[in-house]
Amino acid sequence: MRQHNIYIGLGSNVGDRIKALRAAITRLSRELVIVKISELYVAAPLGYVRDDAFINCVLHAQTQIAPLELLSVLQRIEIELGRQPGVQYGPRPIDLDILFYDNLLVDSPLLKIPHPDLPKRAFVLLPLAEIAPNLVHPVLYYTAKQLLQDADDVRSVQRYLLPNAPAQARASV
Ligand code: ADP
Ligand code: MG
Repeated sequence: MRQHNIYIGLGSNVGDRIKALRAAITRLSRELVIVKISELYVAAPLGYVRDDAFINCVLHAQTQIAPLELLSVLQRIEIELGRQPGVQYGPRPIDLDILFYDNLLVDSPLLKIPHPDLPKRAFVLLPLAEIAPNLVHPVLYYTAKQLLQDADDVRSVQRYLLPNAPAQARASV
């Protein structure tokens, strides 16, 4: 069976966010062949102003798992890491989104690929453009780098440096 190239967006805005992202990556590495992982980026939450800021990253992986089954794998990992199913946009220990699956287009109630919010989410476009600047969006025909240039909330997102990084370089969150 053929390997598919997939991009997954990871985000966390509650609890020990770095620990949750690490745990998700560890679990994903048992299911997928991880090719590349972006740096971490921090973004202001969309609505829930009092929550912790979202920390996000994007990874590129290869898999033979079919799209709907991949969604189930991601949802199982979300729940294992403490996510309450059914709460959208609220605080979540981990959010795992399929951004791209080869050049596949999926438009069903359960699953939409490419992820429909991707073009307006600088907190996903920044890490995506870091690891795959020339990746072409299969509907919009813009590269990740071009989509990032068009995003209007880029300044609300910054690199998140781990707390053991030099103090002057650390992002304030
Ligand atoms: P968001 O990720 O938009 O902040 P949620 O993670 O709460 O919000 O959305 C969950 C729902 O989105 C799931 O029930 C899932 O069926 C649906 N969904 C549609 N397309 C995708 C996708 N590409 N990746 C992940 N979930 C998706
Ligand atoms: Mg999601």
